[in-house]
Amino acid sequence: MLRIALQSKGRLNEKSLALLRDAGIGIDENNRRLLSQASNFPVELLYLRDDDIPKTVSCGIADIGIVGLNEVMERKFDVDILQHLGFGKCRLSLAIPKNLDYTGPQFFEGRKIATSYPRILKKYFMEKGVDCEIREIAGSVEISPAIGLADGIFDIVSSGSTLIQNGLKEVEKVMDSDAVLIGVPGLDEEKKGVVNILMSRFTSIIRSRGKKYMLVNISNEKIEDALAIIPAMKSPTLLPLADKGWSAIHSVVEESEVWDKVDRLKKIGAEDILVLSMEKLIL
Ligand code: ATP
Ligand code: MG
Repeated sequence: MLRIALQSKGRLNEKSLALLRDAGIGIDENNRRLLSQASNFPVELLYLRDDDIPKTVSCGIADIGIVGLNEVMERKFDVDILQHLGFGKCRLSLAIPKNLDYTGPQFFEGRKIATSYPRILKKYFMEKGVDCEIREIAGSVEISPAIGLADGIFDIVSSGSTLIQNGLKEVEKVMDSDAVLIGVPGLDEEKKGVVNILMSRFTSIIRSRGKKYMLVNISNEKIEDALAIIPAMKSPTLLPLADKGWSAIHSVVEESEVWDKVDRLKKIGAEDILVLSMEKLIL
């Protein structure tokens, strides 16, 4: 039985569960205990605070876990990073009061910085040769400069709106983070087999994100033009229609490019354009 550690509540919980569910793992939401078994797959789910996930995986209490890269880098436990999962994206950045002039990392020489990520920050400043005082606090880091606890902060940023609300500006990005699948080093062969199945399912799900399936009817003489607009993944899927002289093209396109492609296809006479959502993309 493979044990997976997940965040019990918080920003990564829902998307971690959705990923497992999309990968075909039966999770009973109504019967959610701290440790629960999947209904149709040899895995059990262990729900934890995200802070505890790297340690739990490093000592083998859980075999694998889903947690932010920021937590993995900060905690420094011995775990393998198996896969980037692409959700929970954020960055760890330095920020200072918005009215101060920023002169580069040397700005922080001799200053105080509040953070919940002291190890990552210490390493950054060691590499930059900057000597500053790091004040570790557990939460509400962004309020520190206003209450005189620190001159600047080092914290998670995603949209930047929390910084703005607190009169701060982002001045240095130190690392990018997303949710990662971590594993205990040296898993036995049987468990490795289950992890490999899960990872290949995750890959198909991640690959299909932001993509749409498109079907287009086009007259045969315009096929070349249409294929220049919607290139196929390998060789184009072309199906003849009952109406001779017309064909259907099937393709996968980036969601962000759908409307541009629709407009261009209509201009060359394409008809009956269907855009469908994609669940999994297995190559
Ligand atoms: P827990 O109760 O499990 O300890 P937490 O309060 O420490 O949770 P959350 O705020 O739920 O943590 O964030 C979990 C992870 O989500 C972060 O470590 C980070 O990797 C990621 N994340 C993505 N975007 C953001 C964001 N805007 N703010 C905070 N975390 C983010
Ligand atoms: Mg936490």
